[in-house]
Amino acid sequence: PLKRLALGAALTPLAALIARRALAAPLLAANSPEAKAVRYTEDATSAKDSKGNTCASCALYQGANGSAQGPCQLFSGKDVKAAGWCSSWAAQM
Ligand code: SF4
Repeated sequence: PLKRLALGAALTPLAALIARRALAAPLLAANSPEAKAVRYTEDATSAKDSKGNTCASCALYQGANGSAQGPCQLFSGKDVKAAGWCSSWAAQM
């Protein structure tokens, strides 16, 4: 039990750091090559193929419910806009 406690104590600051990093992730630039490759836009309404879908309703979006922006599994270390969209949009299960 003591070992487990020590491990838990060691992991807690790391988890906090990771959480802080996720919150502080820079926004994906819509004009960057990786964004352009999937036709990412910060405004889903401007994409005629979005069919009303947005990053907020995408299976790859990892932002909290109601968040304005959050991480996307496609773009490691970058946030995308909840109101955005790209051609890799996937329905949530
Ligand atoms: Fe948005 Fe989903 Fe595309 Fe990521 S994969 S940019 S969350 S639509």
